[in-house]
Amino acid sequence: MSERDIAGNLTAIQQKINQVAERAGRNPDDITLVAVSKTKPTADILEAIEAGQLHFGENRMQELESKMKETDMPDVVWHFIGNLQTNKIKYIADRVNWIHSVEKAKYLKEIDKRAGNANRVVTALIQVNISGEKQKGGCAPEDLAEILKAAQNYEHVQVRGLMGMAAFVEDPEQVRPEFKLLKELFDSHQQYNGGSVNLKHLSMGMTNDMEVAIQEGATMVRIGSAIFGERNYG
Ligand SMILES: *Cc1c(COP(=O)(O)O)cnc(C)c1O
Repeated sequence: MSERDIAGNLTAIQQKINQVAERAGRNPDDITLVAVSKTKPTADILEAIEAGQLHFGENRMQELESKMKETDMPDVVWHFIGNLQTNKIKYIADRVNWIHSVEKAKYLKEIDKRAGNANRVVTALIQVNISGEKQKGGCAPEDLAEILKAAQNYEHVQVRGLMGMAAFVEDPEQVRPEFKLLKELFDSHQQYNGGSVNLKHLSMGMTNDMEVAIQEGATMVRIGSAIFGERNYG
């Protein structure tokens, strides 16, 4: 994969998704490729859009805010995947479509309020800490039920699934148990569906561990460096 051939990289990743899904007996159409454009210039996003990519992910709220404005295309679907800060949710709530990184009930309340002000509905995923590493975000598995219960009565934010980040390891086989854990939590928490909660999606898998994540049930993969090239930071 060459650093600068964004269209070619997108095609290669999509082919890989199709292949892995089919081998796992899954329908590739059930897996959404979210192109993670963090730290990369808006020109790269435009190039990817030109190549047919519609879903983009960013992990800093102000960076997402400015890229949403600079891109200004109604068909583009924006995903926030980084650490939330309550006082910054207002900057993205009038345009962001998905927020993958809700780890506390208080964020749902703020998203509901700000999306409501903008007359919109934002889709949220609850991030669960599946690697057990302190530096990774996400709620503890045992706190998930409580967050889902608190999520049921909102009008402007709807919870549609779970997100997890595996540990960074060289051999992705090592993190299979982490993805299995997220899938198990997803299955065992279906009982909390009701009102604005309906668990349908599993956001898991990045450049290094995408294949294992798809085998374990991912419906959204978040891919950055394999599309846009290596990052210097972020
Ligand atoms: C950066 C990032 C990604 C993409 O990582 P790559 O290894 O470049 O594919 C996915 N998810 C989250 C939450 C990220 O911060």
